[in-house]
Amino acid sequence: MKPPSNDSAKPQSFRLGRRLFLAATGCAPVASLLAADPPRPITQASVPDDPAAPKEQVGTVPSSSPFDEPLTFTRKDLTPRVKPFSLTQVRLLPGPFLSAQEANRALLRRYDTDRLLHTFRINAGLPSSAKPLGGWEKPDVELRGHFIGHYLSGCALMYAATGDQELKSKADYLVAELGKCQDRLGGGYLSAFPLSLFDRLKARQRVWAPFYTYHKILAGMLDAHQLCGNQAALRIAQRMADWVDHWTAALMPEQMQMVLDEEFGGMNEVLYNLAAITSSPRYASVGDRFTKKRFFNPLALRRDQLRGIHTNTHIPQVMGAARRYELTSDMRFHDVADAFWRQVVDTRTYVSGGTSNNEGWLTEPNHLAQELSLRQETNECCCAYNMMKLARALYGWSGDPRIFDYYERNLYNHRLGTIDLTNGHTQYFLTLGAGSWRTFGTEEDSFWCCSGTGVEEFSKLADSIYFHDDNSVYVNLFIPSELDWKERGVRIKQTTGFPAEPRTTLEIITESSLQFALKLRIPSWVTGPAGISINGKASEVSADAGSYLVVHRSWRRGDRVELSLPMGLHVEAMPDDPSLQAFLYGPVVLASRLDTAKLPDSLVVGFQAPDLKKQPSPETSPLRAEHADVRRWSRASKNALDFKIPAAGGRTFVPFHSIGPGERYSIYWKVV
Ligand SMILES: [Zn+2]
Repeated sequence: MKPPSNDSAKPQSFRLGRRLFLAATGCAPVASLLAADPPRPITQASVPDDPAAPKEQVGTVPSSSPFDEPLTFTRKDLTPRVKPFSLTQVRLLPGPFLSAQEANRALLRRYDTDRLLHTFRINAGLPSSAKPLGGWEKPDVELRGHFIGHYLSGCALMYAATGDQELKSKADYLVAELGKCQDRLGGGYLSAFPLSLFDRLKARQRVWAPFYTYHKILAGMLDAHQLCGNQAALRIAQRMADWVDHWTAALMPEQMQMVLDEEFGGMNEVLYNLAAITSSPRYASVGDRFTKKRFFNPLALRRDQLRGIHTNTHIPQVMGAARRYELTSDMRFHDVADAFWRQVVDTRTYVSGGTSNNEGWLTEPNHLAQELSLRQETNECCCAYNMMKLARALYGWSGDPRIFDYYERNLYNHRLGTIDLTNGHTQYFLTLGAGSWRTFGTEEDSFWCCSGTGVEEFSKLADSIYFHDDNSVYVNLFIPSELDWKERGVRIKQTTGFPAEPRTTLEIITESSLQFALKLRIPSWVTGPAGISINGKASEVSADAGSYLVVHRSWRRGDRVELSLPMGLHVEAMPDDPSLQAFLYGPVVLASRLDTAKLPDSLVVGFQAPDLKKQPSPETSPLRAEHADVRRWSRASKNALDFKIPAAGGRTFVPFHSIGPGERYSIYWKVV
């Protein structure tokens, strides 16, 4: 997220100059013409890339501006098609996702809670001798306190995902101490900065997003309540919301709309959540005051007016719209969420699954090559995090497995790889320019928006592998894990080496035989019919790509289902420049690891994006068409997704997520 001015806390890397995209390669004759997997046609860069994906206009398409009228909140819950399992019901088993979770868990454990509390205590006039944090949490930075909200959520999610008592204790201590700060401040207000920032917001003076930070703390309190069972956290959240009610009620509607021009996170969503938890519609009415009409009206009319706006200011607002729809069945809010989703995913998403450049949408839809040529700071990580949360909500409404093509694309290319497994530190921008490298935050001096969502996202990697309805389990992701469907008395253990292996195995563990349907997602990227065997015997059941393969039977203890998912190399071209191409194997984006020395930490650590001006791309030649022909590529080894290109100087492509800190890579190639 952007500070309101040339804030000194923002590292130099944020102010990278405009540069032209440089395509890259090196070509030299080599051997090996082993046959690779069957080729797939080149598709455009938006995902999901399934041409059969529904494009029809769903819901109401009003002729006027539907959010110009005053809103009335009337509870009428949506009945979801599929429901998520609680995080407490799924455990990750050894594999890359468990490694990422554990790196984050160790980071969460290392933070000293008294240091996290320091600015809150000072602001409340309470003593604190703790050493202040740096970066965006420095005592003179206006966003201070935001990370503590994320941290509370991260601890609560990790406790649910692992049962880690130490992190629950840290969350409980933070809630208790923040409660003391709230008592001292009076009136329900709770923040690490004084009320004068809100006075400046009201007066339309320059200020850095006070409601953004307030939202993080409120959301952290609700997570501590819901996932750790902390009752005090709910009382604190209600008092915080009471203060918001008081502050916003004093503004005229037009004045409130002007307040909403400053980033305010998901204030609408968290207030709707509080209304649902407490069955108090008053909080939802306060949430309605955070309806930014200028943004929602064109979405309800399904017009793309995203060019020029700040990406992560707006995604959380749409999550609020999604939640409002779930609580009221009001189609206006459905249409906002649905239209936004389609606009971003279909026309503004890079091959990695991420969106945004320099934190905004810089071009008209389907001009991704042009956008990439403007700036290097693509794919802000917190945007991917929030878009995945939105995807999860939309999936619950429809049960459409193609939404998981998008989710999975992000998971393998934008979650794996953006956390440093040695220390749990995370990235800000996932840069796609030629010759890029990954940069990571520090433990003491970053605390960026993406550091905050980072500690949340790597605590909840288990949250979307399985869903259910009354009589079915949906297996959406192929990740080693164990599900405990307590309500039905059955456990399902998934073992897999996916994506290095194109298959997964599910073992049913139940005391007595039990009837239910197992619905296995068949991704849109499969290159042939998915095969299934039950207890070693091939089954006739089949399903199309982008649907579910359904096995309905009476399951017995020890039943084993093996699902094979034919995978292959394929190419995705930019929608506005078919010669600019990226390569994938199934959902995995492949990167060419450039033959350069590993860059020192002085160019990697503490930067939001690589400074390609200081270290220009070492390779600038295009890739010759015959080298970009994936039918000629060969797999370097059976157990790894490394591919060699014959006659191209031994160039190899490897999974993007396997590129480590300091290694240089290219994703998009100019093909001639
Ligand atoms: Zn961010």
